[in-house]
Amino acid sequence: MPHNDQQVKKNLFGEVKKAPATSGHKPDINKIAEILKDGAVIGIFCVSCGYTHGFTQQGAEDIAKASDLELPTDLNSVFFTTKRCSICDDKYQGVKIEPR
Ligand SMILES: [Zn+2]
Repeated sequence: MPHNDQQVKKNLFGEVKKAPATSGHKPDINKIAEILKDGAVIGIFCVSCGYTHGFTQQGAEDIAKASDLELPTDLNSVFFTTKRCSICDDKYQGVKIEPR
């Protein structure tokens, strides 16, 4: 199990601190593609902690709405980037939609 996933599991039980927001991470398109294979409709990449995860359709709509973004109809060609995520912070900040 990848380190990041382990950390997320632990976070759910409040056992470990948030992932360090070291910034400067680059999105990994392959990782986003993997997440989409697992049933997510769109991937989100956090430039602060480097974590990639996926959203359901409802999750994607919620975060787009919260970030004042227009969610494209075709989510296959885009992904989200965020400056802060639920892994390294309490909420998403600076969410953008980027072409994939
Ligand atoms: Zn993060």
